[in-house]
Amino acid sequence: MILAFHNIGKYSRPLPAENDLSSKKIKNIISFFHRQGYTFVPIKEYLSGHRYKTAVITFDDGYYDQFNTSVEIFARYNIKACFFISTSKIGEMWKSVDGMLINGISSTQIKSLYESGHTIGSHGHSHEIQQDSNFFSEDLKESIKVLVSITGKKPEYYSAPFGVINKNQYAILKETMKYSFSLGRIGMICCRNEPDFLMNRIPVNNRDTFLRLRFKKILFNI
Ligand SMILES: [Zn+2]
Repeated sequence: MILAFHNIGKYSRPLPAENDLSSKKIKNIISFFHRQGYTFVPIKEYLSGHRYKTAVITFDDGYYDQFNTSVEIFARYNIKACFFISTSKIGEMWKSVDGMLINGISSTQIKSLYESGHTIGSHGHSHEIQQDSNFFSEDLKESIKVLVSITGKKPEYYSAPFGVINKNQYAILKETMKYSFSLGRIGMICCRNEPDFLMNRIPVNNRDTFLRLRFKKILFNI
């Protein structure tokens, strides 16, 4: 089971899609899955075949707030997460659809996460959805280049902005990355789950109760 998060922390108003979770809520979710008998493992371990009753935490986009959570909560629970970064936003501001500005993660924070044993993946460079294959290919290459310049290692995993991957992009990803990840219902419509390369994730937002998470697990955990 792979969980996908976005923002962690308190905002002056809920973010669109209610993608912001308090750190208390994250802790409750971790405890909930612990009670269900799940162990949180690094993504590499999960992908290498340890998938029974194991869970992985992933983050999309790369926000400043994700860093603080990792240091405080994940260190306490000894969880290694995977951060998919959109590299054009490193050290810049994200603008939500309703105009809220959110700090992007910094390159120093990415390096620190990597050195603490978390995994750094690509979420593309621009975070734009464009059907053009050349654009996609160049955007992916640029994101890899930036991440290599920060961590010194080529990222092996990719998560698609908005969870969407089309057929042409799939072919490019297959040549470039070890694994790719889509997101929730969108991912299920556009892509076939392929346990050896393309996998779906369970999106978690602030509306999720334990009951809803159980439902999502059945719907998306394929
Ligand atoms: Zn994204």
